[in-house]
Amino acid sequence: MAKIVCVLYDDPINGYPTSYARDDVPQPEIYPDGQTLPTPKAVDFKSGELLGSVSGELGLRKYLESNGHTLIVTSSKDGEDSVLDRELHDAEIVISQPFWPAYMTAERIAKAKKLKMIVTAGIGSDHTDLQAAIENNITVAEVTYCNSNAVAEHVVMSILALVRNFIPSHNWVLKGGWNIADCVSRSYDLEAMTVGTVAAGRIGLRVLRLLKPFGVNLHYADRHRLSAEVEQELNLTYHENLESLAKVCDVVTLNCPLHPETEHMVNAETLKSFKRGTYLVNTARGKLCDRDAIVDALESGQLAGYAGDVWFPQPAPNNHPWRTMPNHGMTPHISGTSLSAQARYAAGVREILECYFENRPIRDEYLIVKDGGLAGVGAHSYSKGNATGGSEEAKNFKK
Ligand code: NDP
Repeated sequence: MAKIVCVLYDDPINGYPTSYARDDVPQPEIYPDGQTLPTPKAVDFKSGELLGSVSGELGLRKYLESNGHTLIVTSSKDGEDSVLDRELHDAEIVISQPFWPAYMTAERIAKAKKLKMIVTAGIGSDHTDLQAAIENNITVAEVTYCNSNAVAEHVVMSILALVRNFIPSHNWVLKGGWNIADCVSRSYDLEAMTVGTVAAGRIGLRVLRLLKPFGVNLHYADRHRLSAEVEQELNLTYHENLESLAKVCDVVTLNCPLHPETEHMVNAETLKSFKRGTYLVNTARGKLCDRDAIVDALESGQLAGYAGDVWFPQPAPNNHPWRTMPNHGMTPHISGTSLSAQARYAAGVREILECYFENRPIRDEYLIVKDGGLAGVGAHSYSKGNATGGSEEAKNFKK
């Protein structure tokens, strides 16, 4: 029987919810490219419940315990005395979410002698040292597509919030003011601007489609080019790299995974290619950007605004400079963990576990690493190597 360690974020400060804002959670029938939503044999939760926090347990306890497995659920993941470190030695599976990642470094993987699988309840497995997983023959799987559209909605919201200067204007209301000139002296229309995405995968392409009706010029950069049909449909301009894209864009959004090839792609040097006053939105991973270069660019005005929900490490230390830099629209990492998305990724994790325990193949589209190599979506979207360096700083966050 297996021991499963599941790392989840803390419950709300006022306790696990006893009621919710809405009674139902509409879900799409199918994802835009035809991929089906998760297909577990059953689930033991109600869609719309808070599943991603410790008491929600991703709805897995009944299923796992009734099959004789042991489930440990904790939010304690950083520092040497963490519950995660204490429980790793005989764990067969580790599950965590990118929002509150269990950084599965080479050191941790070396300690976990029985570890067979690391599951990301969500998308983005950069919190696992993929090189170490490859070398130790550990399967890494994630729930591809489960929250891609949720993130795309957050991207569009963030772009509008920055360009329209929404957050400072809202703050004037809270302060009791009516300071129209203060609000609008940084407010523009998105219409007619040029917007570019780095990566046109599931999220990036959805962002392009959602933005089309705003009457903007759409650009993208990616390793593989989209079909001529899609380029024509959205009137897209293709760029081979970030610098070429940034030169012509008013808004840039990052939508690629974090891997050695993309780490710190936005830095002091590449920021020189951006037009002065560009808005940068990053909901992909904090480490795609050099932390201090972003602060400097906001202070100098090279960037007019920066928004997103991803930081490095996570949780971000209380004194992380992105909390206080000018003209930002940051939130904690929330875009992919709406209640709607949680129902999908909890079901996806259940599907992955059912396949694992019943010796059935895990869907190719969920695989990142398998049999000692990048596999499935991992082989398409990642490069070999490790992007977890520096994650030990997460222990500096104080509740
Ligand atoms: P996809 O795998 O569908 O898309 C990733 C895209 O990134 C692919 O088109 C890939 O290109 C492209 N890419 C990879 N490397 C590069 C590179 N060096 N330069 C340009 N493009 C590159 O994933 P999703 O769109 O669903 O998700 C993307 C990322 O967003 C995730 O990996 C995760 O980090 C983040 N995310 C964040 C969430 C949040 O809550 N904030 C939730 C979900 C995801 P190609 O196919 O050509 O190789």
